[in-house]
Amino acid sequence: MRAYLCVSIDTECDKGLAWKSKRPLAFDGIFEGIVARLQPLFCVHGAKPTYLLSPEVIRDAESVEALRTLRGAFELGAHLHGEYAEPGAFEPEVTKDFQRDYTEAVERQKLTYLTELFTRTFGNKPRSFRAGRFGIGENSIPILSDLGYEVESSVTPFMDWTRSGAKGLSFLGAPTQPYHPDPRAPAKVGASKMLEVPVTIRPRALSYAPFVGKYVEPRWLRPTRGSETGIVDLAKDEIKAARAAHRDRPIVLNAMFHNVEVIAGASPYAQTEAAAEGIMDRLEALLVFARKEDIRVIGLSDVPELFA
Ligand SMILES: [Zn+2]
Repeated sequence: MRAYLCVSIDTECDKGLAWKSKRPLAFDGIFEGIVARLQPLFCVHGAKPTYLLSPEVIRDAESVEALRTLRGAFELGAHLHGEYAEPGAFEPEVTKDFQRDYTEAVERQKLTYLTELFTRTFGNKPRSFRAGRFGIGENSIPILSDLGYEVESSVTPFMDWTRSGAKGLSFLGAPTQPYHPDPRAPAKVGASKMLEVPVTIRPRALSYAPFVGKYVEPRWLRPTRGSETGIVDLAKDEIKAARAAHRDRPIVLNAMFHNVEVIAGASPYAQTEAAAEGIMDRLEALLVFARKEDIRVIGLSDVPELFA
């Protein structure tokens, strides 16, 4: 079966070292990052990225104008950093919240706020979603489903976020290919109508070692670090593993990163122009590989029809 690639980009205000937000809020990651760098690259390769928008971006009139005038194919979806969403919205120095830690009522209010803000601003409902810090929990899928979302993309297989302050937020054992999740346990297969499109992550050999295994960072399909051959090899490995597991299903790769990573000084990952260019180069290597292999780059919300 054919393979497809999603490139899903968490889209936020400019950050800096230790993810501290710029004050006042700044959006070079939109104007320079998306408009001048990312979208032109996607256009050249006939690729359709998905920009998942955090509330502070949707509230910024100039960012919205810039996103409205983008050329080529792209999808806009939603990304919740709950600090920026009502009720109780504020501008945090660092976004720390995991939405699964809110009460069900507050999580629902914040997701409703984000969804209505998006719909009012762009004139259509968002169909795809990723939680800030991948922090979905037992209430998230039912709420997202009620709000009309079709695709969820917060599952990070082989990752346990307990050491990042989210006790029990674990995606160990989650599938690496799209699946209908258990509404109350999104890392497991179940009966939700929504489709989960996990971030493409593969284990390293050491990941399975007793005791030390959980301290070994698995390999992410993400241009942030590593080499051009590294990101392409990971894509090949997932395709091979998925083909071996389900011969008769389409294969979906899901690369993620942040819009601010391609701007020097706007994230912890690229403090210099050279570092930002390295991230762009690894992204381009992945897009070149996709084109060569006839792997179409599609939006997150294009995935459900592949499985229909
Ligand atoms: Zn985020």
